[in-house]
Amino acid sequence: MPFTRPASLDAAVTRLVEGNRRFVEEHPVAPVPSFHRIELASGQSPFATILGCSDSRVPIETIFDQQPGNLFVVRVAGNIVNDDGLASIEYAITVLDSMLVVVLGHTQCGAVKAALDFVETNALLPGHMQLLADAITPAARSTSRDNGDWWHDAVIENVRMNAAAVTQRSTIVADAVREGRVRVAGATYDLHSGVVSFLD
Ligand SMILES: [Zn+2]
Repeated sequence: MPFTRPASLDAAVTRLVEGNRRFVEEHPVAPVPSFHRIELASGQSPFATILGCSDSRVPIETIFDQQPGNLFVVRVAGNIVNDDGLASIEYAITVLDSMLVVVLGHTQCGAVKAALDFVETNALLPGHMQLLADAITPAARSTSRDNGDWWHDAVIENVRMNAAAVTQRSTIVADAVREGRVRVAGATYDLHSGVVSFLD
């Protein structure tokens, strides 16, 4: 099961959804047998590429219950698209035939919170950390602190903006999407429930 490619883009999404359900229901599939590891040593064709947050509570393969070889993962605090991450995504699509690109945010993201704090106080973060706050600031500014849960709204908006940015900034991704070879999706992970919700 883990090493067959999904037959369609819909089937690829379903594989992630079903894997997350196994994780939530606490019956993940068995560990990888050695012959699969040896098989993988000769090459990879991960069906999905995930741009996720570095947060230690959001381990990508674990929450989707996927074995080695299935996911190509880019992680950076705040799951933002930067040039290096975009190059990695383009590599996954062009060389590894990855079918999905999922920008995955999560509840209570510290990087998003830092951007909200920056918008409120204008206090700069030390070192390189301000770069992350700057990248997330558009999502913080386009959501309202008066709507009840600014933090959560900004998490979702940050996912939407970065999912859009993947195709806006990469003609490789845009062409693949137009040709029906690739789908770009946004999703959020709930730290409490363990559930991944794909955005419309
Ligand atoms: Zn985070």
